[in-house]
Amino acid sequence: DKILVSGANGFIAAWVVRRFLEKGYAVRGTVRSADKGKFLADLFKQYGERFEVVVVENITEAPFDEAVKGVDAIAHTASPFYLNAASLDELIGPAVDGTVGLLKSAVKSGQNVKRIVVTSSCASVLEVGVDKVFSELDWNELAVREVREQGDNAPGPSKYRASKTLAEKAAWEFYEKSRSDIKWDLSVLNPPFVFGPAIHDVNSPDALNTSARQWYETVLVDGKSKDFLTKQGSAYIDVRDVAETHVLALEKEAAGGERIIISAGEFLLDVANALSPSPIPSHPSLPVGYSGVPWKAPVEYDTSKGARILGLKYRTKEELTRDTLADFEKRGW
Ligand code: NDP
Repeated sequence: DKILVSGANGFIAAWVVRRFLEKGYAVRGTVRSADKGKFLADLFKQYGERFEVVVVENITEAPFDEAVKGVDAIAHTASPFYLNAASLDELIGPAVDGTVGLLKSAVKSGQNVKRIVVTSSCASVLEVGVDKVFSELDWNELAVREVREQGDNAPGPSKYRASKTLAEKAAWEFYEKSRSDIKWDLSVLNPPFVFGPAIHDVNSPDALNTSARQWYETVLVDGKSKDFLTKQGSAYIDVRDVAETHVLALEKEAAGGERIIISAGEFLLDVANALSPSPIPSHPSLPVGYSGVPWKAPVEYDTSKGARILGLKYRTKEELTRDTLADFEKRGW
């Protein structure tokens, strides 16, 4: 089977592509410029003709008509992820129109497509500040309300969260509306913060994607944003498990028609100190690990649906931390 992976050069997508290739699938990855494709062609050259790259310059203009031809399934990961957008349009346009555009292309010219997996986010589930265990029944109406009321002045993270919520809602709406005309079904994955080693084209910590950069700054850059992992806290999943869940979501019949939270658990205190002894003794300002210390998780997700349908045992914080630090060290960071 051949899988189309959109935004193939991203942090998550590069692992998604790799996992599909490892499992014997053929992959067509989309990138925004030929240049970005070159690194991937080299990264996956051992797979020969099973991997190909196509350029889709502007995903907001339903340009996937050619890209979907002949593929059996699609993993849609491309979406802008940064927390300092000046305008709503720069996020919501590509997130919503890119997603719906891809689904429209699948209707129009994806004759062989059987399933589409969309990489949504816990950003479209969680309402920040609300104290409850979130499940797939929850939607982040709060972020949508914030951007409706405040427009471009809404906080950057709210703009991003609204873009993911609106994109996922648009995907389900289009799917429901089109069901009588299509041979494919939709499956949506909702990861929280995704951390882990990188295999995509990234030459400096600054060039890391948003989540990996936050992890890097928290753990390795003295003090800078340590609130992110020490106080704010959230939930996480290892990027390699995100890749695996994309494969499982395409393979498991029961994933069709479902949105699925994929979270390995909560983090609150220093991720680095999840390892004992701490790999970063030079970082004395961070609190020591919290084993045995009573604490309340900053955000909790009900992950039973993912366990039932996908059944993946997620990597631990310790494994994630060890392998990420090893990756950064190899790069000399
Ligand atoms: P990256 O920034 O590494 O990858 C984003 C991908 O989307 C890149 O291929 C990028 O292309 C593409 N993209 C961004 N903006 C546009 C645009 N305007 N038009 C077309 N393509 C665009 O981020 P991640 O790998 O972290 O994110 C991948 C997906 O996972 C996103 O949908 C994100 O919302 C979701 N996600 C990520 C989480 C995380 O913690 N990392 C958590 C939950 C969900 P280019 O390189 O050309 O800019």
